[in-house]
Amino acid sequence: LPEPALEALQPADVAALVPRPGPHAQKYTRGVVGVRAGSAAYPGAALLCVAGAECGLAGMVRYVGDPSVADRVRAARPEVVGDGRVQAWVVGSGSHDGAEEALRAALADDVPLVVDADALAFADRVGAAPAVLTPHAGELAAMLGVERDEIEAAPLRHARAAAERYRTTVLLKGRHTLVAEPGRPVRVTTSGTPWLATAGAGDVLSGVIGALLAAGLSPYDAASVGSWLHGAAATLASQGGPIVAGDAARALPAVVATLVG
Ligand code: AMP
Ligand code: MG
Repeated sequence: LPEPALEALQPADVAALVPRPGPHAQKYTRGVVGVRAGSAAYPGAALLCVAGAECGLAGMVRYVGDPSVADRVRAARPEVVGDGRVQAWVVGSGSHDGAEEALRAALADDVPLVVDADALAFADRVGAAPAVLTPHAGELAAMLGVERDEIEAAPLRHARAAAERYRTTVLLKGRHTLVAEPGRPVRVTTSGTPWLATAGAGDVLSGVIGALLAAGLSPYDAASVGSWLHGAAATLASQGGPIVAGDAARALPAVVATLVG
C-alpha cells in the first residue's frame, strides 16, 4: 500500500516515543542538549528556550551565549551548565545578530540541531547535518522567497517543498503544526491552542525539540513529538485561563505524566 500523505500523531504514538530513563540511566546517556539562543537584545528567548530544553526528557542542558545572558540563565535555572560536549544543539531563537555565529559553532560539532528564528536565514549551511528547521509562516516565506499569504493558503504544499529544498525535516508552525521530511508522510499536530499565539511560544518549542534530539529521537520524531507535547502542555495550561509562553514549559511534566504514568 502507498504511504499516507498525512498522518495525525496520536497520544499512544507520542507515549511510545517519549524517552524515559532506564534503571541504569546516567545523565550523559539520557542526552545533553546545548542551547545557543537569546541575545542581549532578546534575553527572554534564552530563558524560554532553556525552559523548554529543561522539560526533563534529556539528562542535562548547557547554555552558551552572551555573558550577561548566561548570567541570567544560570541565576534563573541552577541545573543549567556551561559549554562542553552535547548530543544536540538548539540555535537561533532570539539570537538576533548572533545567529550566524551560533549556527556555525553548532555545525562544527557534528550533532543534530534545531534551527529556529534568526538562524533560519542561514539554513542552506545546514547541508547534510541532521536537523529540524522550525519556521512560522513568515519565516518560511522569507526562506522560500514567496509571500506569507501563499504559505498560509497552502501550508502542506509549502512544508513539503521546504523539506525537499533543504533535504531535511521542516516543522511549519501555526494553528496546526506540520512536520515534513522527504519520503515520509507529513505529520500534523492538533494538540495546541490559539492561546499559543503569544511571544516566546516558539522559543519554548525549539528547546523541547532539542531535548528530544539529544535523547536520541530522529529529527522527524523529535519534531513531531515535541510539537505534540508543547501543544498539549499549552492546552492544559490554558484550562486555567490565558497563558504566557513559559506556562507551556511549566505544564510539560504534567503532560508527560499522563503519557508515561
Ligand atoms: P513563534 O511564532 O516562533 O513564537 O511560534 C509560535 C508557536 O505557537 C508555535 O508552536 C505555533 O504552532 C503556536 N501557535 C501560534 N499561533 C497558533 C494558533 N492560532 N493555534 C495554535 N497554535 C499556535
Ligand atoms: Mg519564533
